[in-house]
Amino acid sequence: MNGIPVSLTNDANAAAMGEMTYGAARGMKNFIMITLGTGVGSGIVINGEVVYGHDGFAGELGHTCAVRHNGRRCNCGKDGCLETYASATGVARTAREWLDMTDEPSLLRSLDKIKSKNVYEAAKEGDKLALRVFEYTGRILGEKFADFIEFSAPEAIVLFGGLARAREFLEEPIRKAMDENVIPLWRGKVKLVFSQLKESDAAILGASALAWEL
Ligand SMILES: [Zn+2]
Repeated sequence: MNGIPVSLTNDANAAAMGEMTYGAARGMKNFIMITLGTGVGSGIVINGEVVYGHDGFAGELGHTCAVRHNGRRCNCGKDGCLETYASATGVARTAREWLDMTDEPSLLRSLDKIKSKNVYEAAKEGDKLALRVFEYTGRILGEKFADFIEFSAPEAIVLFGGLARAREFLEEPIRKAMDENVIPLWRGKVKLVFSQLKESDAAILGASALAWEL
């Protein structure tokens, strides 16, 4: 089987390639792709190239720390990782925790099992607790994005994945927290883009873009 080129990359990196080639990041040479799914994935593009790092695993921004003290336990074994708060799973977890902590009325109380989709639907109905869950999630994302911006000076942060469809509730708190926490140099300058590509499409298109590069 010698001579057959094989290209492997993780979903978020493939998605970054897809966005760069066909999607929201077309023409951009520096951006960070964040996938908000059951976890938080990321692909970092610098000077038009996806960053793989020494061992190929670069772009694990979902496992950088969002809450340093008493943070939630993550599947990776650490505590307080971004993805334990800002993924679809994290949103549902926040809602469940807050419902347990208070007696505040909420549409979510009537449900047996709460998923992020339920929180989204409740927010659409104007449910105050659900709206606050998104505000909290957006703020955590924005705070972390400020750090990411300071690291690689991207033109944009491109969001996609199931949870990115909650743009109407996430965009404002993300933008606000991002600008409050980033140094003045980048305040109000970095674009926040919500991807138009479907999660699966971006990754598939990205993988094909990668194959064409060989
Ligand atoms: Zn983790």
